[in-house]
Amino acid sequence: MENELKIKYDEEFKKFVDKMNQLEDEHDSKIENILEGVCSLLGISKIRVWFYETPMKEAMGQGDFIELYGVSLEPSGKTCNQFRYVTGGGNVVRYDVYGQDEGSAWTKQQEAEINTLVNTIFSYHGKIRTKHIAERLTFWDDDFGLNNMRYFMKTVGERIAKNQLVGYVACMYNLKRFSVINELVGRDMGTQIMIRYARGLEALYDSDDSVCHLGGDNFLTLFRLEKLEEVEEYLRGVPVIYNEMSGESVLISASAGFYVISDMNGIHGPDDVMEGIYVSANMAKKSEKTDTIFWNEQIKEKQFQKKKIEDIFPDALENEEFKVYYQPKFLFENEYRLVGAEALCRWCHKGSMIYPNQFIPILEQSINICKLDFYMLDHVCRDINRWIDAGKAVVKVSVNLSRKHLTDQNLLEHIMEIIDRNRVPHQYIEIELTETTTDVDFKDLKRVANGLHKYGISTSVDDFGMGYSSLNLIRDVPWDMLKVDKSFLPETEDSCDDNAKKGILLKHVIEMAQELGLQCIVEGVETEEHLRLLKKNRCYLAQGYYFDKPLPVEVFEERLECEQDSD
Ligand code: C2E
Ligand code: CA
Ligand code: CA
Repeated sequence: MENELKIKYDEEFKKFVDKMNQLEDEHDSKIENILEGVCSLLGISKIRVWFYETPMKEAMGQGDFIELYGVSLEPSGKTCNQFRYVTGGGNVVRYDVYGQDEGSAWTKQQEAEINTLVNTIFSYHGKIRTKHIAERLTFWDDDFGLNNMRYFMKTVGERIAKNQLVGYVACMYNLKRFSVINELVGRDMGTQIMIRYARGLEALYDSDDSVCHLGGDNFLTLFRLEKLEEVEEYLRGVPVIYNEMSGESVLISASAGFYVISDMNGIHGPDDVMEGIYVSANMAKKSEKTDTIFWNEQIKEKQFQKKKIEDIFPDALENEEFKVYYQPKFLFENEYRLVGAEALCRWCHKGSMIYPNQFIPILEQSINICKLDFYMLDHVCRDINRWIDAGKAVVKVSVNLSRKHLTDQNLLEHIMEIIDRNRVPHQYIEIELTETTTDVDFKDLKRVANGLHKYGISTSVDDFGMGYSSLNLIRDVPWDMLKVDKSFLPETEDSCDDNAKKGILLKHVIEMAQELGLQCIVEGVETEEHLRLLKKNRCYLAQGYYFDKPLPVEVFEERLECEQDSD
């Protein structure tokens, strides 16, 4: 009988050890069942396992109770053997083993077997612990004491797999003006405030839904739809105390992108949810009108178009689908003379024409715009080179350069390489740059404009008056030309009052440019009335539909020839 029992025990024990070895994700009831069997065979009623991070914590009784194995709920046996291990990392693991039999002590043989058993459980716990640590590192942001993006993705993924995502709202939020708060309270307290704000949001959820730290002042959260109003309210702003003593607080608010998951259309994985909130959160961050944007079909469609354009752009560039159109610039002091042109881009794709407003803003979100601008400059240079070779009249052509280029430290060399490779005399090229909003941009802008100036390439401020014009920008950079935006010209639908104000602004902008020794051109001249206004202000340089729309190169060449003939 003893032998039989021993064989059975060995079999069970082997199963148990095998199971332990292949465990990892299988910390399931099976293991506990087997362990229960082993405990019962060994006459063990219960094993209680404690984990202490350090011996000091053990001494203070500050440990985690991790597992309880055995057959009965309460330790019933009198005999209690205690095992204690100190790991290589200095952690302490303690096992209390209770016997089933109240009276007798363990035999030597039993003690040896219990020892083996506890050793095995110990190595099992080692693995579990390692797994916990790995999980902690993977899904936890230690600096913030919050879950991280991987945790968010895992949670969403698990809900998708269990078909339990409908009825939830995913959200990405970004704290508003947090750099100001950091300046006010310091970075460390700033971090504490971010954590408190996140914890305050978590406190609204009466579940284990959490707030995850994405990075910087960006956070992610997934919560039940019923909580949406409360969450929106919270994100609109709450005071967060940063000085417990004085009770001083700062008002923290956030811009946010939401994805209300009312069905699973278009959601195949967590990435689809992430994309939805990422795009809408970015829109909300940039928007001047609203702080919250909900992912919807329209945004999805726009996003789809954006992706499509980004996908087909490289081939389109390679296949030269982008065409240079030339919009003439006219001098009209005494007679009309075509004195220059602006190169504007048109995309001819599969027989239809795509206008810049449909693709430039998308390309401007990546360095694709730089590729396009260099392509345009190159094609303009090729055209000029061809006109010179054919002995045609040539005028100065301005090329638009996106602000995205400004951080490129080799920008100047790149521009000059294109111009010189095409053997274009420098006086035929002008670079149009738009106004800038930040100091960093401003430095780069100055560097680039100064460089171009040295090479004899003209520069102009495009859309002057549209952005946040800084008069320092005009003073500190050696511009040749100011391009006054069409918004300074009266429109038929404007009120008399508006037009009068526009008239005053136009007059002074033109005067200022002239007094600073800059040339001044007005864009968007459409009517006789516009022309009259320019003449009245002694500005004789204009570009607009009144003269010509942007023209395909062949038509523009004809214009140039007419110009030459009339000379
Ligand atoms: P922009 O540089 O301000 O160019 C002037 C825009 O005003 C052009 O629109 C032109 O067709 C339009 N326009 C000209 N005259 C009139 C007029 O009398 N009335 C009205 N209402 N509009 C007029 P387009 O060609 O659609 O280009 C739009 C914008 O796209 C450009 O504005 C520019 O910012 C950008 N863009 C175009 N080509 C390029 C390029 O090659 N590179 C870069 N970076 N941007 C470009
Ligand atoms: Ca322009
Ligand atoms: Ca413009």
